Amino acid sequence: MNLNKKITLFSVGLATVMIVVLTVVSLWSFRQFSIMSAQAHVRSAAEIIRVSLTEDMVNGIITKRGGLLHRLGEVEGLKTVHVARGENVVRQFGKGSDEENAADDAETRVLQTGQPHFEVVSELTGPIFRGTIPFIATRKGNPNCMQCHDVAEGAVLGAVTVTMYIGHLKDNAVFVSVIMVASVALFMILMLYFFRRLVKPMIITANDVQDAVSHAINGDFHANIQQRTNDEIGQVAQDINKLMAFLHKGLSTIREDVAQLLKHKPLEEQGNLLNSTIGMVQGLIDASQFKQAIEEDESKTEIYQRLSVVVRERFGIPYFSIYEVLPSKNQMIPITVDGEFGAACRWCDPQILVRSETCRARRTGHLIDSVESPGICYAFQPPEGEQKYCHACFPVIQSGMVGSVLQLVIGQEDAERIKEIIPYINVYLREAAPVIEAKRLMDTLRESNLRDAMTGLHNRRFLEEYSETLVASAQRRKSQVTILMLDLDYFKMVNDTYGHDAGDTVLKALSKVLTQSVRTSDMVIRYGGEEFLIIMQDTGGDMADLVAEKIRAAVESLKVQLTGTVLQKTISIGIAEFPKDSETFWQTVKYADVALYHAKETGRNRVVRFTQDLWKDEKTY
Ligand code: GH3
Ligand code: MG
Ligand code: MG
Repeated sequence: MNLNKKITLFSVGLATVMIVVLTVVSLWSFRQFSIMSAQAHVRSAAEIIRVSLTEDMVNGIITKRGGLLHRLGEVEGLKTVHVARGENVVRQFGKGSDEENAADDAETRVLQTGQPHFEVVSELTGPIFRGTIPFIATRKGNPNCMQCHDVAEGAVLGAVTVTMYIGHLKDNAVFVSVIMVASVALFMILMLYFFRRLVKPMIITANDVQDAVSHAINGDFHANIQQRTNDEIGQVAQDINKLMAFLHKGLSTIREDVAQLLKHKPLEEQGNLLNSTIGMVQGLIDASQFKQAIEEDESKTEIYQRLSVVVRERFGIPYFSIYEVLPSKNQMIPITVDGEFGAACRWCDPQILVRSETCRARRTGHLIDSVESPGICYAFQPPEGEQKYCHACFPVIQSGMVGSVLQLVIGQEDAERIKEIIPYINVYLREAAPVIEAKRLMDTLRESNLRDAMTGLHNRRFLEEYSETLVASAQRRKSQVTILMLDLDYFKMVNDTYGHDAGDTVLKALSKVLTQSVRTSDMVIRYGGEEFLIIMQDTGGDMADLVAEKIRAAVESLKVQLTGTVLQKTISIGIAEFPKDSETFWQTVKYADVALYHAKETGRNRVVRFTQDLWKDEKTY
């Protein structure tokens, strides 16, 4: 219910209650007043009759009292006058005329009790007031009652009953009540009129403010509330206008700034300014928190995992892929597909993996959006039965090149909102790109530190870093780690005879032979100049001896082509096993070296397994 209705209802209700109360109170008051006034009249008339009768008695004309009573009955306003003799008077002076007997029960009761009796009697001609007043014997006055009457003081001598019309009193009361009620009603109407006039601008302003606020809630801050009065209400109207203008300007500025950061202007200019601004700011805050999180991530994989969570949970896209581009090899590798890490490429022609330029996003460095341009990329080849999907592929630029590609696979239900999502995804990728790039560079650097440049094999530093993991894994699996320590025989001679470059060629050829002679799960490490370590995790005992022998034979039969000559070299190998030979890994390496030394000592081109006697000999030596 609005304020206007409330005021009207309240005023009308109040007026009705007031009129009803006033009518009841005034009618009751007039009735009381009329009765009291009639009582006074009856008492006065009774007193006049008593005095007149006394006078008649004193003057000895009491016999003519009938005429007096008759004439009194003709007095205007009085209807009848009747005097009744009390018992005491009857006893002293006789019964008198018949008319002086008690006329009814009321008169008889007054004569017996000495108490006056009043009542209002309704008659056809209108209401009649009747009062019966007793004449009580008293010594007061001169002459007093006792002088003529032979009775005790206080005895009832007689009673007079007077009836009088009071209809005119009732009429007057009703008339005055009507006038009063009419005046009050008029007053209330006038009051309501002026009150409404007074509060009207207040109500209109309140409605306007309500309107402006509900528009503001819906993001429209174009309020223009008319200032109707020069009081506080007018001031409120003005202040609300100022507030709305301030909010509109502030939010528009924030929106513009945020749009610039997002590099995207919201599509619905007419939409909810507040909501879209909140949404945009929230998007930036989320992206900034994302950046903080990935900066503290340890590896690229963690960053990609976090990005996957964002795509799936923040943007609600269940199908997506992240590819990493290997520029030197013109290849792409799928990092995650539909949130599964290490999964195979599912949504694209697998050709993009070996010829990365077939990926349009990778080739052009532009966003490829098949919602906007259907069929834009031929490489997008969804699995059988999933043809209804579109895609949006985002190139992630690192060092001026496309380093990764994020592919969103978009169902029909998401086709509309993808336009809104794209700018936010771009913000996330912008934040992620430099961090991924830094992590990639670090990985490359680390990798190069852990590899020997000439042979491409891992180096001793790698073993130092990796040994802990290796030991932990061996202990967990309760398995042996076999270490082969290898050293070319008389290699110095190659350098001395054919030069350092020839020596390098031999080392490279040897590395190849070693790598090919073991399983991919085994590790070949260039441990020193022409010393190599081979670490085998699931090959121990006799099997290790066989592998070592195979390697020895392979090296022996290796023919290295040098300019003008073909070179053949031999190799010596020492074997030790962890933890069989020693409880510590590095001591086992040392034992393999001891075995190697023994192989050299005993003629070279041979495999020697470590035994504790060799260690004793070594110490003696
Ligand atoms: P043996 O091991 O049989 O006792 O005799 P050796 O002649 O091989 O003796 P040693 O193992 O001490 O020789 C190591 C030589 O390997 C010395 C060094 O000139 C050569 N060497 C080490 N690293 C490289 C390298 O990277 N390239 C070349 N060309 N030679 C290297
Ligand atoms: Mg050596
Ligand atoms: Mg050597």
